[in-house]
Order: sequence, then structure tokens, then C-alpha cells
Amino acid sequence: MEQILVIEDDIQIQNFMLYALETAGFSVQGTAKGKEGLALALRGDISLVLLDLGLPDMDGMDVLRRLRENSDIPVIIVSARDQDKEKVTALDEGADDYLTKPFSATELMARIRVALRHYNKMIGKEKKEEDDGIYEFRGLKIDNFSHMAYKDGIEIHLTPLEYQLLLLFIKNPGKVMTYRTILKTIWGEGYGEDTQVLRSIMASTRRKIEENPAKPKYIETEIGIGYRMKES
Ligand code: CA
Repeated sequence: MEQILVIEDDIQIQNFMLYALETAGFSVQGTAKGKEGLALALRGDISLVLLDLGLPDMDGMDVLRRLRENSDIPVIIVSARDQDKEKVTALDEGADDYLTKPFSATELMARIRVALRHYNKMIGKEKKEEDDGIYEFRGLKIDNFSHMAYKDGIEIHLTPLEYQLLLLFIKNPGKVMTYRTILKTIWGEGYGEDTQVLRSIMASTRRKIEENPAKPKYIETEIGIGYRMKES
């Protein structure tokens, strides 16, 4: 059974998460302290960490950094609505996703499912799609051998950058991607913060894959953070 650790000092929210997780069949542990949480997370039997950024004894960001020095288990940040900057920093520092308070049990489970799926794929518990170079998701298809892209079986003509962008998102359904992560993946280190060029490539990609680019069905905007390939 997968064990999930909740590091959250708001006891009401902690209890809500513990209850929701137990109901969903996970084994759970909760703590209000960053230090204790870090020790528990590093013990080796935790599958995923839900981490509040504002903790009484230790900055949540430091918990994340210390954890990342020794472990790559999924971490989902739990944060307040006005902490967009912190969320982006946490994602760039290796957090897998974030939840903004208040959130529902359904959202919590959706985020956990995505994070665990990506992690299990990464460590090889699930068959890697890269094996055959074909990626398919919700009617979109990328054949990474022939470098062709399709929507509902019809070829779509993408520029090399649009292709790289779509490939990144089709490989990561449900996962939030920060601007920096996208820029780094597509252009490599050094393209740092040029989000304007990214926005324009996103716009042209959307025109090719979306029926209504103003109301995207595939890649949605996470304001102030980045983008996410919608799961449904
Ligand atoms: Ca807190």
C-alpha cells in the first residue's frame, strides 16, 4: 500500500487530507513540523509528500530542498492563494505539482494520481512509452520516429519548436510545467526567462490543435505559473 506523508500545520486541513487519503485507500502519516516531516520523508517508505510551505519550525522550501538532496519522491506543494511566486520557486526547485487552498478531495486525488504515475514511469514501474516513440493522448498523436504529429488521425503541420512543445506536453499529461521548465527543456539552459517567445509559440501551437484557441481543451494556462496538459 502506498504511504503518503502530509506536512501541514493547519490541523483542520491536515485532517481533511488524511481523511481523504485514507478513504481513497492510502496509508497516511501527518505532521505539523517541517523537521519531523523531513526525517519521515527520508525514511524510505513514503511514496509521496504533501508539503505546506508555511510551517512553524522550518521553511517549507527548505524542507523541499533538503529532501531533494536525497530523494526524488513526488512532492506536491500545498499553498495559499497569494503565494504564486513561492509556488513557481518550489516547482523550479523540484516540486512536482501544487494545490491552492482551499481544494477539494477530488482535486487532491487527481494531483496525487498524476504525480505517482509520472514517478512510477520514471523509476520504471510502468512501461515507458519512449520504447516505441509513439505518444498518444486524447486524440493527439506524435510519432517521434518520423517526427509527425496528428490530431484525430489527420496530420498537423508543426514547426520544430511547436513540435518540441507539444511533445513535452504529450509526455506529461496532467503535470504542471513552469515557464522555466518548458524553456529549459526546449531551448536548453540559458534561455532563462524569455516567456514572450514561449507565449507566441504556445499561441501558434494552440491554433493548430485547438478548435477554439481562446478556450483551450488541451493545454491550459496556469496563470503566473505555466501550462498544463489537461487530462480530460
Ligand atoms: Ca501553514
